[in-house]
Amino acid sequence: MNVPLIDIVIRDAGQRREIDDAIRHILDKGAYIGGEEVAKFNDEFGAYCGGTCVSVANGTDALILALKALGIGPGDEVVTVPFTFIATAEAITAVGAKIRFVDIEPVTYALDPARLADAITPKTKAIIAVHLFGHPADMDALKKVCAPQSIKIVEDAAQAHGATYKGKRTGSLGDIACFSFYPTKNLGGFGDGGAVVATDQRLIDLVTKIANHGRSSQYFHDIAGLNSRLDAVQAVYLRSQLKRLEDFNRRRVSIAKRYEAALKNHPLIKPPVTSPDASHVFHLYCVRSSKRDALAALLKEKGIGHGVYYPLSLHLQPAYKHLGYKKGDFPVSEQASETILALPMHPHLTDQQVQTVCDTLISFKG
Ligand SMILES: *Cc1c(COP(=O)(O)O)cnc(C)c1O
Repeated sequence: MNVPLIDIVIRDAGQRREIDDAIRHILDKGAYIGGEEVAKFNDEFGAYCGGTCVSVANGTDALILALKALGIGPGDEVVTVPFTFIATAEAITAVGAKIRFVDIEPVTYALDPARLADAITPKTKAIIAVHLFGHPADMDALKKVCAPQSIKIVEDAAQAHGATYKGKRTGSLGDIACFSFYPTKNLGGFGDGGAVVATDQRLIDLVTKIANHGRSSQYFHDIAGLNSRLDAVQAVYLRSQLKRLEDFNRRRVSIAKRYEAALKNHPLIKPPVTSPDASHVFHLYCVRSSKRDALAALLKEKGIGHGVYYPLSLHLQPAYKHLGYKKGDFPVSEQASETILALPMHPHLTDQQVQTVCDTLISFKG
């Protein structure tokens, strides 16, 4: 039996019809940019997160727009983690600010609040807290460091749609939040998409304006902005998926519970841990093993999908060589890169597929 790491094809015939009908309606009207579906999606996703939503072209743009709306640019510094997808750091580079990395906390893989103060300088304007793999960062501990110095907190929630921290959903945990709707994310489209969510209407108005050519009205522009919009057809698909997101996330959690039970007391594989303050949405289910490569070989032999997220920390990437970091600077991130392995995780896994993965994990002897 083959067990794919990720499966994003919608097979539910009813849902397919619902999406096809709405897309046909858009094609019939020729209303491809903006319009009713985008407005409805903004309302629905904003309400889901507990804020106001502006949808944009992708998650990387969402981060760039959030930083721009906070007024961050050349001369400023932004703190984030080296153990994340590169888009988090690219957004800081794109607005012309300087990246300062801080190591992650070893259990949740999120920015370590205990190390944050070391990276703060008088130029620090914001931090980007990544809710990696679907587990929220320790927001209260981060706020305790940031608030007295008026440092803004940006959530990179691209992997954590619907995850909660102390009962509140991602998107409403910091000053401004960024989401991606790349197809493989917990809430994904059939192309690119993203969103910025915030409760501060001033920030939302600024993001809306910057994302739409800095426009005050047609052909009148207050500032030089950019073009970053969600397509109407993506909004249709995302509205349909949003209705099912809670069910999808629940299914992910129930698969995670079965993996965890199979890994209980396993001598060579450690399951992920969820903080008592958080609910995890398992964008990825990443285990740790000092015998990672042997485990990957066994999974491959059994036809079970797996992947390494992420094999090289950002501070060691050629793209960020100029920042002057070296091996050993962020040992927790580096160790994660060397020992982590993602197992199949998506809502469409069958119980039988999950059982195959569990049996294989239990059989692993190194
Ligand atoms: C996917 C992702 C992004 C970027 O999203 P895109 O829509 O691909 O631009 C940013 N941060 C993290 C942590 C991601 O996983």
